[in-house]
Amino acid sequence: MMLGVHCSVSGGLEHAFEEAALLNLDVFQVFTRNQRQWKAKPISADEKAAFANAWKAHPEVKAIFAHASYLINLASADKALQDKSIAGITEEVQRCHELGIFGAVLHPGAAGEATEEEAMNRIAEGLKQALANTAGSNVKILLENTAGQGSHVGYKFEHIRYIMDLVGSDRIGTCFDTCHAFAAGYDIRTEHEFDMVWEQFDHIIGLKHLKAIHLNDSKGDFASRLDRHEHIGQGKIGAKAFELMMKKFPHIPKCIETDAENNMDEVNIKLLRQLAGE
Ligand SMILES: [Zn+2]
Ligand SMILES: [Zn+2]
Repeated sequence: MMLGVHCSVSGGLEHAFEEAALLNLDVFQVFTRNQRQWKAKPISADEKAAFANAWKAHPEVKAIFAHASYLINLASADKALQDKSIAGITEEVQRCHELGIFGAVLHPGAAGEATEEEAMNRIAEGLKQALANTAGSNVKILLENTAGQGSHVGYKFEHIRYIMDLVGSDRIGTCFDTCHAFAAGYDIRTEHEFDMVWEQFDHIIGLKHLKAIHLNDSKGDFASRLDRHEHIGQGKIGAKAFELMMKKFPHIPKCIETDAENNMDEVNIKLLRQLAGE
């Protein structure tokens, strides 16, 4: 059912497969590097081989996607930071390419003092450069919708569309986060509202550009603009939306990004499988 969790890579990238196997996953998300630091050691030939071998040993894993560093802000008006951000997402795409990971999820960026339009123009410019820097690769950059916390853009489907139009490449896709969408004012709690949100998504962005999904319930209220994930069915969104997500998108890679403590990944995955009708 293309369902997984964010797997830890502590001790080596290939360790993610062990965690995935314990939970019987066919999909997972990883950080290919420390997500809170700019510097990352390049992937060595040994690391690359270990990852490839682990994947061969776990053919049940059908898709892996990465989450890019939280430090990257392609919208930054500070030239040095924007350059660093372009280098950062370029490097992330290269790492994914080496590992056979199909896409890197990226938060579009934060406008700071600038207008949203200026921010989105800079994001598109940065994305174009990153794609040019990695021209030989077909790894996708997956723009994630945001909760709209602080000055983050990407909380409206129109933002994603605007950036995609400026970049004009089929290597830009989207990752839909349920918590972020709900916090940004997209109500998915009932079937009727859920259907309307997806109609809008299809109309504005296009369903064919949806390449990954983050399944997170929300601690924050509807339209609160708060990016705070909650366990499935325990937050303000509630279980119904996740049943609908599981049934609507069986073939899109989906991962939870909730606190894994107290064996909660297993609990959340079990619930999602039940909701899917397994
Ligand atoms: Zn997310
Ligand atoms: Zn989030």
